[in-house]
Amino acid sequence: MGSQFELDELRREKEALLARIPSLGNLMHGSYFSRHLVCSRPGCKCHSGEKHGPVMCLGVVYEGRQRQQYVPKSLEGEAVAAVDAYNQVLAILDRVSDINLQLFRAKAPGRGVKRSHASAREARK
Ligand SMILES: [Zn+2]
Repeated sequence: MGSQFELDELRREKEALLARIPSLGNLMHGSYFSRHLVCSRPGCKCHSGEKHGPVMCLGVVYEGRQRQQYVPKSLEGEAVAAVDAYNQVLAILDRVSDINLQLFRAKAPGRGVKRSHASAREARK
């Protein structure tokens, strides 16, 4: 594997991917979904079954717990973009890691990621 041309291609792909990350800085780790809500106004029709919505919510992990964050209509685009940005950055990092492994393997003597018996024993200690 790994002609000089292929390795240069991988390096160029890696640089292009990393260059995209700064523009994806407004990211949020979560998911978005819509749901119907019951409000806190006493006597509101939502308490007798006619719930408000659908409204968009973000499902996020905050301080180690799963939370729901209400998203106002005016911020729906921003919320979707933020979740998408997070997923794009994750995909970029996975691909860059894959490229780095290929570049690393091209430099490493004794190619391959097979475990030898010795290193398998070492790992069990
Ligand atoms: Zn209500």
